[in-house]
Amino acid sequence: TTTDSKDPENPRDKLQEGLLATEFDESSCLSRYQSSMYRKPSPYKPSQYLISKLRTYERLHKHCGPDTEAYKRSKEQLDQHVTLSGSSGELCQYIVWVPLSGLGNRILSLVSVFLYALLTERVILVDQRNDIRDLFCEPFPATSWLLPLDFPLTDQFDSFNWRTPISYGNMLKRHVINSSTETFPSYLYLHLVHNYGDYDQMFFCQGDQSLIKKVPWLIVKSDNYFIPSLWLIPSFQPELSKLFPQKDTVFHHLARYLIHPTNQVWGLVSRFYDAYLSRADETLGIQVRVFHRAGFHQLVMDQIVSCTQRENLLPEAAASQEEDSQQVTNISRIQKLKAVLVTSLNPEYSNSLKRLYWEGLSFTGDIVGVYQPSQEMYQQRNKKLHNQKALAEMYLLSLTDNIVTSAWSTFGYVAQGLGGMKPWILYKVENYKAPDQPCVRATSMEPCFHSPPFNGCEADTGTDAWKTVPYVRPCEDRISGLKLF
Ligand code: GDP
Repeated sequence: TTTDSKDPENPRDKLQEGLLATEFDESSCLSRYQSSMYRKPSPYKPSQYLISKLRTYERLHKHCGPDTEAYKRSKEQLDQHVTLSGSSGELCQYIVWVPLSGLGNRILSLVSVFLYALLTERVILVDQRNDIRDLFCEPFPATSWLLPLDFPLTDQFDSFNWRTPISYGNMLKRHVINSSTETFPSYLYLHLVHNYGDYDQMFFCQGDQSLIKKVPWLIVKSDNYFIPSLWLIPSFQPELSKLFPQKDTVFHHLARYLIHPTNQVWGLVSRFYDAYLSRADETLGIQVRVFHRAGFHQLVMDQIVSCTQRENLLPEAAASQEEDSQQVTNISRIQKLKAVLVTSLNPEYSNSLKRLYWEGLSFTGDIVGVYQPSQEMYQQRNKKLHNQKALAEMYLLSLTDNIVTSAWSTFGYVAQGLGGMKPWILYKVENYKAPDQPCVRATSMEPCFHSPPFNGCEADTGTDAWKTVPYVRPCEDRISGLKLF
C-alpha cells in the first residue's frame, strides 16, 4: 500500500534518481522532496544524459538569469532595438513563456517550452504577472525563473496574437525574414496557439529553426503540448533520443523536474491525501471534465460506472436491497478498502458514485469510499485559490494507483503524466449519445498535442510527417492530435 512509504525506515529516493538538484532549501518548497513520500518510486528512470543536461542547464540559468550581468547585456539589445547579423555569439539567449488558457494547458505548454529551451540552449523565463508564484516553486537552484517586472516588452504581451506583426509567422509572410536575411530582429513573438496559421506552423520546420536560432529573445504563447512535433524536426531528433531513450517518458520526467507546488498548494495535497487516501489498500482517480453544457449528465455518469466496472477498477454493486441480502451470506468480511478520488467542477458525479456503493453491497466485498476535494462549479480565471485547488487536484490524481480521465482534457494529461500512469480515457459524449464503448486504455502516459501543424515542411512530407517515425501516432481521444508512445 502507499501508507508504508511514509515509514522513516524506508526512505524514498528524495532526489528521484538524480532528477532533482540538491541545493535547495527544503522548507521553502516542501513538495520538492516530500512528494517521494506520497508516491511509489517511478518505474521510469531518467537517463544519465538527461540528468547531466539538467545540471548544465542549471548552470546556464544561474549565469544568465535575472540580476546577472549577462541578463543586463542581453536586455540592452532589446532597448536599443539592435539588429544582428548572424547568431549573437557569447550572449545569453532567452525564451519567455507567457501563460494562456486553463492550468492544464499552461503546464503542458510550460513543459514544452522548457524542453525547447534545453534543446536550443536558451534560458526560460516566465511572465509572473498572474499567479505563477502562488502555484509553483522556483525550479532552478540559486537563481529565478521569473521575468523581472520591468522587462521592456511586458506591456505588449497581452496584445500578442496571430495578427501581431512581429510574430514569426507574420514576419515570414511579409518576407521580412527568410533564409537570405542578413539582419535579424532582437526579438520575435512565437504564436503556437491552437488557432495558429500555416506560417506560424513553420516553427516546426528545420530550416526555420536555423533562422529562429539567430534571434536572442523569443516570446511565446501556447496552449498546447507541442513536444511530439519537436521530435519530427530532424536536427532535434538525435539529441531527443539521447535525452529520452524511452520516448513516452518526456512529460513524466520534465514535469517531475519542473512542477513543484508551493507550500500552500502542498498543504491542500497532503492534508487531503492523509485524511482520505493514505489508509486505502487501493486508490483510483476519476477525472470528470464535461466540455459542452458543463454540469451533470446521466449519460456521462453511466459511462463512468460502466467503464470502471468493465475494466475491473471498481466492483459491481447490488442494485437493490434484496440482491444485497443474498450477497451478504456469501461475503463474510471486508476484502479491500478502495478509495476513489473524484475531481470535477460538479459535485453530482461523486455523490452519485458514493450512493451506489452505500445503497448496495459490492459483489467482491470491497469497501468503496468516494471523495471529492472541491466543487468549484465553473472555470474561473486568475483566482488564486481556484487555481491552487486545480493544481492540488491534478497532483492528487497523480498520486493514485490508477486513473480514469476525460477525453480532450489537459487537466487529466497533467495528472497521468506526473503519476506515470496510462489512463483509461472516457470517450467524449457527442450529440447526447452514449459512445459505443465507455472508455479506452491509453497507449502511453504522454499528453496529446491537440493541434499539430497541418502542413508539412517540404512538399513531400505533407500532413503525414508523423508516419515517417515509429514513435508518434494519433491520440486515442483525438484523431487529429499527435502523441508519443
Ligand atoms: P482542460 O480545459 O480540461 O483542458 O483543463 P485546464 O486545466 O486547461 O482548464 C480547466 C480549468 O477549469 C482548470 O484549470 C480549473 O480552473 C477548472 N477545472 C476543471 N476541472 C476541474 C476540477 O476537476 N477541479 C478543479 N478544482 N478545477 C477544475
